[in-house]
Amino acid sequence: MTEADRPALEARHLVKDFRLGGITGRGRSVHAVTDVSISLHRGRVLALVGESGSGKSTVARLLSGLERPSSGEILLDGVSVDLRRRRAFRRYKGSVQMILQDPYASLNSVHNIRHHLTRPLRIHAGAQPKGVGVDQLLAELLAQVSLNPPELYLDKFPHELSGGQRQRVAIARALAARPSVLLADEPISMLDVSIRLGVLNLLDDLRSRLDLAVLYITHDIASARYFAEETVVMYAGQVVEHGPSEDLTQEPAHPYTQLLLSSSPDPDRLGREAEGDLDLGAPPSLVEPPSGCRFHPRCPSAMPVCRVENPPAIEVSPGRTARCWLHDPGHGSGQVPAADLGSARPR
Ligand code: SF4
Repeated sequence: MTEADRPALEARHLVKDFRLGGITGRGRSVHAVTDVSISLHRGRVLALVGESGSGKSTVARLLSGLERPSSGEILLDGVSVDLRRRRAFRRYKGSVQMILQDPYASLNSVHNIRHHLTRPLRIHAGAQPKGVGVDQLLAELLAQVSLNPPELYLDKFPHELSGGQRQRVAIARALAARPSVLLADEPISMLDVSIRLGVLNLLDDLRSRLDLAVLYITHDIASARYFAEETVVMYAGQVVEHGPSEDLTQEPAHPYTQLLLSSSPDPDRLGREAEGDLDLGAPPSLVEPPSGCRFHPRCPSAMPVCRVENPPAIEVSPGRTARCWLHDPGHGSGQVPAADLGSARPR
């Protein structure tokens, strides 16, 4: 593998089980993430798509170091990292930064914007709070997220800014660490529809100018198609489809991807809520996931084998995989029948 091919951040076979507490939960676990492998490359966006409870945000928390995996490996620039060690964790946080869904909750209301941006500069870039050049660094950070002129924002508090401006400050704070990887967990879903595209375009501009690897987590497959070269679809803690966003959205190879697209069919709807428009049925329990293919209770194309055997990730074309028996020559034709939305509801 050449230097250029090497992922900036890679997850190999990540598993995350949460032990349940109390008398009823004794000995049982929530299997939030099961055997997830993804690679993020500099200058590229990978979208992680799925509905609530699919495990996509848990993957982000594992990659950010906020949660420890039950098993599996995380590699930064090709080197396996052990985030239990304090120094290694701090170094890792300098390279991998997360942008959260709710910009209001992610900023501390008692501190002004100057404080929010100076802190990461001090921790990760060694800047002194009142040192020479700090104002210049703060101005550059705000200019990178198009908050100009800086003096208009630095002494304001989060509640004095709009939602879009707060999210831009959260992005500037992430950039202060000079990361190579940005993990953006639903970064536009809590923003007003009119400003979502502006924030996505800003992230895309930063990806290109700073050569960042970006993980874009969303439930809105239309925005993934717009923003990311590559898309990974998760269902019930597993990756069910992976491939170039254009191919995957033009011709989905997994019935679940097809249903997600059916709920968000029009690229012009970019950024609007997709979940809730269409009743896709309830996701399964992650304490006792369905036997066989986890999607079988909701799948319009389920076959007898689907109820007993979990399909492997099958290569459907170069660079594309789908976890579905329809692509196994022994069970299916390789075609996904047109979605019957009614039968997507729980049986
Ligand atoms: Fe549907 Fe079977 Fe494919 Fe699962 S394996 S998505 S149940 S056809």
